[in-house]
Amino acid sequence: MKKKEEPTPKTYGGLRKYQEELAENALQGKNTIICAVTNAGKTIVAFHIIDEHIKRNPNAKVVFLARTNPLLDQQYKKACDILKRLQRDNDIKKFLVGQESTDESARQQFDNGRLFFMTPQLLMNKMKLEEKFPVPINTFSMLVLDECHHVHGKTPYNDIMATYRKAQNDAQDMKLPQIVGLTASPGTNKAKDETSAKEHLMKVMTNMDVIHLSTVRKHKENLEEYTTEAEQVVLQMKVRKRNPIQDKLESSISYVERQFQLEKVQTFLAVSMQVIHDVKQSLLNIPIQKLEQTYIQWITETRLKVENVLNKDEYVPRLMLTYLRHLEIYAECLEMNSLLDTQAVVDLITSRSSEESIQSQNANTIEERDILKYLEDVCKFMCSLDPEQVECNPDVQEIIHWLQREYEKQGDNSRFFIFVKTRATARALAKRLEHLKNLNCEYFTGSQVGIEDGGLTKHKQLEVLNKFKSGVHKCLVATAVASEGIDIPECNMMIRYRFTANEITSCQMRGRIRTAGGKEVIIGSEKENLRETINVERMVLMKRAVDAVIAMNEHEIREKIDKGKQLLFQSEEVERKKALESSKNKVVEQFKVTCRKCSKDIVKGQNLRILKGSLHVVFDNSIFGRIKREPIKHIVTEDIKLTDKVIGDCGHAWGHLNVYNECELVVMAQKSIKVFNVAKQVSVNVKKWKDVPYKIDTVDDDDILAFKASQLPTAE
Ligand SMILES: [Zn+2]
Repeated sequence: MKKKEEPTPKTYGGLRKYQEELAENALQGKNTIICAVTNAGKTIVAFHIIDEHIKRNPNAKVVFLARTNPLLDQQYKKACDILKRLQRDNDIKKFLVGQESTDESARQQFDNGRLFFMTPQLLMNKMKLEEKFPVPINTFSMLVLDECHHVHGKTPYNDIMATYRKAQNDAQDMKLPQIVGLTASPGTNKAKDETSAKEHLMKVMTNMDVIHLSTVRKHKENLEEYTTEAEQVVLQMKVRKRNPIQDKLESSISYVERQFQLEKVQTFLAVSMQVIHDVKQSLLNIPIQKLEQTYIQWITETRLKVENVLNKDEYVPRLMLTYLRHLEIYAECLEMNSLLDTQAVVDLITSRSSEESIQSQNANTIEERDILKYLEDVCKFMCSLDPEQVECNPDVQEIIHWLQREYEKQGDNSRFFIFVKTRATARALAKRLEHLKNLNCEYFTGSQVGIEDGGLTKHKQLEVLNKFKSGVHKCLVATAVASEGIDIPECNMMIRYRFTANEITSCQMRGRIRTAGGKEVIIGSEKENLRETINVERMVLMKRAVDAVIAMNEHEIREKIDKGKQLLFQSEEVERKKALESSKNKVVEQFKVTCRKCSKDIVKGQNLRILKGSLHVVFDNSIFGRIKREPIKHIVTEDIKLTDKVIGDCGHAWGHLNVYNECELVVMAQKSIKVFNVAKQVSVNVKKWKDVPYKIDTVDDDDILAFKASQLPTAE
């Protein structure tokens, strides 16, 4: 075996041969997508390009875009480390979401710096015409898009490119920034053959206005010296011979499902009314397989339908919602049981059952009390099982076996990553592996959800990662969220446990496994493992598509891309027009917003306001007497601070308390509410606030001031 160099050189002083090749197109000023495997050092290539670009152009301004704050932070630090000259001249600036900055100082920062780090969302906000000082796209001479395979559909990346396309069409002599994209794989969008893979690649190129792809052709051997793929082991999951927990959970599910046959429920369902008919249909089509995603989906869909009939009867719909909650608990435990050992299921059902007891304190009917009693009995049964008597989960044994074996080989150098699907599994598996003292297992989950739901704060995330790098933790159990927004540190073994990734993440994840003696272990069902095989096939298709595009002559590519761009621009113009019209076409209608869980009134339509284009605020002072606050760790985004969770006087979550211009505002969460048309007495199903078909007034800073002033007399 050849001796390997340090995988990422600290400076680009000596770009490797293949890295020079990757930089060629961009250095000639062409738009390009740099496509190379994860550990090839694409960022180093990008920094070299940026440095040269700034040296050659006295007015150069470059934006480096990364999709999440942690990724951005990482790339920014790398840049400061490598681009010494720019760093010394204080020319590198970072804009983080959450940083409070006035528009003016942002403009000043653009005036003074040369290289800017920000998320695409933030750049998009700065370019918006509604801003006080919108920043036009031609302020910049180069845009670098990290992980540029995300340029598609309605992503912030593509929004930026749409702005670029519009500028290109509106003012043809405008000097637009050079576009440089970085990716391990542009993906194939589930292509089944080379032709469709090639079509997808051309689409990505069209989106990014790229004619020249940058891949390694001449120096393939040089690339392979630094990047070999880890050994892959694919194992099929095993099932227990005897499974008393599963049996109990399945019989509990049947029991609850039978409750829908109660006379009361059936009488209610017999009412001839479309919304009730919808619920009835749903109940006639309960999926047979409980251990599959379709069952959870069925619960979610049915719940939505039942919520629509909450106002039709004060009793039966509530009861049905209770049944659905219980079904969800059992289904969740069933899944946990298939993934882990007895203790994890016991922990889960215990916590769910106590949550349910609290939620049902006002359960005042026999049926509600019965079903709760049943749940508590199931919980007691689980707790009474002797874990020694229940067969261990064979897959968990397999994981432990791999961890121990690799630890014996790697010793203190061991760094293991286990990927699982849900936060609950990550937490439970980390706990299950606690006894492997040498590894000091920890769980690593996303920061999008609260701690009570198994999330970690950004701060805690970084802390865990640092402890992993330094070896305090040698094994992390993570969810996909963790793999998405954060650069996964290198590891020598990655276990994917019942975790399926798409073709792009699968290859990105593999790229984080150290080349020397690295391993990737995949444990999945037959179906899940098949998907992995397809991923590998798609990767091959992608490579062939790249070859095919590079073999095309430039003229032909240019023609196709230009045509594609034109079509794209036209459809975007139509979209823009539609959006404008739909905002004009909202009708004036009497409506109200109610609690999704119990249909209690929250606010009348005329007292609802939109702040900053998207926040839906209760503009009615009486709200503060009808809510409870639950303080949360403050989240600051631009000029708005989230301070508390808002619980309505019905006991359900309604949204959050936001502080804007020193004024407290109740902002409702769309998932917690329902919109109800008062005139027609029907609820209106919308997935997003912006789909509400009724006219809602917007507020500006003066309105906020007035609202704040009106609060004063009532202050205690
Ligand atoms: Zn409620």
